[in-house]
Amino acid sequence: MPRETLGAIEAGGTKFVLAVGPSPDRILARHTIPTRDPAETLAEAAAWFAAQGGVSALGIASFGPVELDRTAPKWGFITNTPKPGWADCDLVGYFTRALGVPVGFDTDVNAAALAEHAATGGTGGGLAYLTIGTGIGGGLVINGQPVHGIAHPEIGHIYPRRHPLDTEFAGICTAHGDCLEGLACGPAIIARWGKSLSELPADHPGHAIIADYIAQACHTLFASVAVEEVVIGGGVAQTPDLVDRVAARARELDNGYLPGGARHAIIAPRLGTDSGITGAMMLAKAAAET
Ligand code: ZN
Repeated sequence: MPRETLGAIEAGGTKFVLAVGPSPDRILARHTIPTRDPAETLAEAAAWFAAQGGVSALGIASFGPVELDRTAPKWGFITNTPKPGWADCDLVGYFTRALGVPVGFDTDVNAAALAEHAATGGTGGGLAYLTIGTGIGGGLVINGQPVHGIAHPEIGHIYPRRHPLDTEFAGICTAHGDCLEGLACGPAIIARWGKSLSELPADHPGHAIIADYIAQACHTLFASVAVEEVVIGGGVAQTPDLVDRVAARARELDNGYLPGGARHAIIAPRLGTDSGITGAMMLAKAAAET
């Protein structure tokens, strides 16, 4: 491999996706490994990069929570995750030592937002990326930069207004009960109706209820940070018609009020399921250039 080979990791709770290539839009090889304990998983990832001939920089797009403050002692760590063995895991430190190259780091959803923003041509207003799956997470790119604040956003934990047909279910978030994730993630759907959204009949009220909650989150993003686009990925979002239902419901909720509303878009990922790994490649490129 030439010296300018970028390496990328999309670190998830069930699998790690690894990739190498000369630029973010050109992945030459990829490999998926199951997430086990950190020692085993990280060693297998490092060995795969070595087997590709090494990389000149690495980007990591990780599940969270993570420490993104570059001045913090634990920058690059997964912090207080309940996932057994992974709390206080020094991801960046491990790969810095194992590969000896610069490492870029962000959340999986911020990386996905970066890649989706680049796929627009990088112009226009800001972009939010929501993933609706086992949990609900969101990343934001404003003025071309991922948004961090004192930590990363946790858009899945806002409280939506209850749908009138969904007043009994308590929600499953261990911290909040009926926050967005507690009401609309995949396990919350199964907890109330016994099936995934795509398995429910087309006339089941669950479709409108879940679309309403996600639409409320989109409206909150349009109203609070004035993004132009909300991109919705994740397993639940692959339910046929869900993204279109969300877009239609968000227009109803706004009722023509927000400035810029004519430009608002709620869409499926342009990059399909490659948003996260492409974003990780972008993090590697940025790390190589600093
Ligand atoms: Zn919550």
